[in-house]
Amino acid sequence: MTKVAVLGAGINGLSCAVKIKEKYPYVDVVIIANDFTPNTTGDGSGGLWYPYLCGSTSPQLLRAGRTFTTLVVYPPTILAEMYRRFKQVNGIAIQSNINSLRDTKLSDYNVVINCMGLGSRDAIPDYKVIPIRGQISRIEAPWINHTIVDEDTGNYIIPNVYNCVLGGTHQENNYNRDIDDNDTDFVLNGCMELMPGIKHAKPITHWVGLRPGREKIRLESEEKDGKFYIHNYGHGGSGLTLFWGCASDVLEIFDNYMNIIKQKEKSKL
Ligand SMILES: Cc1cc2nc3c(=O)[nH]c(=O)nc-3n(C[C@H](O)[C@H](O)[C@H](O)COP(=O)(O)OP(=O)(O)OC[C@H]3O[C@@H](n4cnc5c(N)ncnc54)[C@H](O)[C@@H]3O)c2cc1C
Repeated sequence: MTKVAVLGAGINGLSCAVKIKEKYPYVDVVIIANDFTPNTTGDGSGGLWYPYLCGSTSPQLLRAGRTFTTLVVYPPTILAEMYRRFKQVNGIAIQSNINSLRDTKLSDYNVVINCMGLGSRDAIPDYKVIPIRGQISRIEAPWINHTIVDEDTGNYIIPNVYNCVLGGTHQENNYNRDIDDNDTDFVLNGCMELMPGIKHAKPITHWVGLRPGREKIRLESEEKDGKFYIHNYGHGGSGLTLFWGCASDVLEIFDNYMNIIKQKEKSKL
């Protein structure tokens, strides 16, 4: 009997759990995580689907300005919807900390899908994963309906359905989750330079999140100590862009695993 533990309930953990449980309703799928929506990294993020540089694409090719049509989600909505879909197919969610892949809480599961984001740094451990601190502000500005990203300064303006996100810092190896007044000035002044009318907007809130940075996303499987692991972490500032495609890749790896199990069972008959 296959029992799957998905570690992490951010956008990556939830989407992997949904894809697997919807395709294999008879398989036990349990999400184990410290934090659930609305307290994950993605909940506070900008929600912008933004072009992602794959493999060896040179950033130099993208130096000039670009305009494109894309989509923006209000992240808590999509996280709540993913959670609802998972519960609808009888998925189980447990709030708990995982110290390592050898944690006794995992002993009943033969497949473990690791989507712990920054938590993978200590739990795996994988010291290639680093925090990239992002401080943003939200303002009330329903008249803004264009996104602007200034890749030189790091400032950006992303309208969501309920408010508008102004960003943001990209501070590597910085774990500070408190609001820093200097960063607030950087965000507000930098965005006002991009769009002066912002000075008339009402501030709503400031927020800090730690992006799970890594030189490259780790999306691969490994077999260790009699268990099958699929890793899916290190999405940096692009998790809301990449989650569905990455979850499809995880599902494909899981499909192969299930086919091998099926063949082994047949050959026993
Ligand atoms: C300011 C900011 C703006 C952003 N804007 C965008 C954007 O516009 N577009 C975009 O595509 N991306 C954006 N991102 C990036 C995006 O938010 C992240 O890439 C994405 O949220 C990562 O999702 P995740 O599921 O991998 O990790 P997380 O959301 O961090 O989830 C990790 C999960 O693992 C759990 N966990 C960790 N360690 C343990 C442990 N030891 N035991 C148990 N559970 C554990 C946590 O509790 C959590 O449930 C932004 C990020 C920030 C900070």
